[in-house]
Amino acid sequence: MENQLSLFDFKNNDETVIARNKVTKQSDSENLKYNSLEEAKKEAMKCTKCRLCEGRTNVVFSDGNEKAKIMIVGEGPGENEDLQGLPFVGRAGQLLDKIFESVGLSRKEYLYICNIVKCRPPDNRAPLDDEAEACSEYLQAQIKYIDPKIIILAGAVAVKGILKMKDPKITKIRGQWIESKDPLLFDRKIMPIFHPSYLLRHEWNTKPGSPKALMWKDVQEIKKVYESI
Ligand code: URA
Ligand code: SF4
Repeated sequence: MENQLSLFDFKNNDETVIARNKVTKQSDSENLKYNSLEEAKKEAMKCTKCRLCEGRTNVVFSDGNEKAKIMIVGEGPGENEDLQGLPFVGRAGQLLDKIFESVGLSRKEYLYICNIVKCRPPDNRAPLDDEAEACSEYLQAQIKYIDPKIIILAGAVAVKGILKMKDPKITKIRGQWIESKDPLLFDRKIMPIFHPSYLLRHEWNTKPGSPKALMWKDVQEIKKVYESI
């Protein structure tokens, strides 16, 4: 379904804002390439579908609990992730763990963590659109088979990759629950949050309205909704 216009509801407290987004490609949950998570993972481990395979040490598929109701999607592996084969294990990842642990949501028990691309982009640059697109069938399989009730999008690259928004303004949309009409995302609660590395760059600022304060607010909202589902 090329260039279809779709509506996403942005819900914040009692206020509902409808945003129009140009959807260039919709995922089709009835038409997934892989029949199981294991099959998708096995294929990803030897994948050469995009140029990012050239520089990788390890394919970084996921970490956490496959039965978790909360999925966190980041951008792509950095150096530490590439070396260990696990997502979010460097400084930003440790901060992410700390943020979710502050409301009792440990990675091991409550979270399933993955990225838009499974191989490390050179010099930690953001993944390019064609790389995200090439890798998307793995992510689609992860969403379908993990079947999370809540999907947290860490940073603009994850928002772009999942919601197909062209130029998301993370400072505007973070903390809002988004409902998507995409069949694969339908009935899941989706919230963009700051990427933890953004917090690391602003850690000197802890005032009300600072990235850190807003992240604290967002994770409490996530916990509240988690407890209600
Ligand atoms: N940043 C990400 O977006 N993902 C990781 O796995 C690590 C750092
Ligand atoms: Fe394959 Fe994704 Fe790695 Fe590209 S980033 S080679 S699509 S697993």
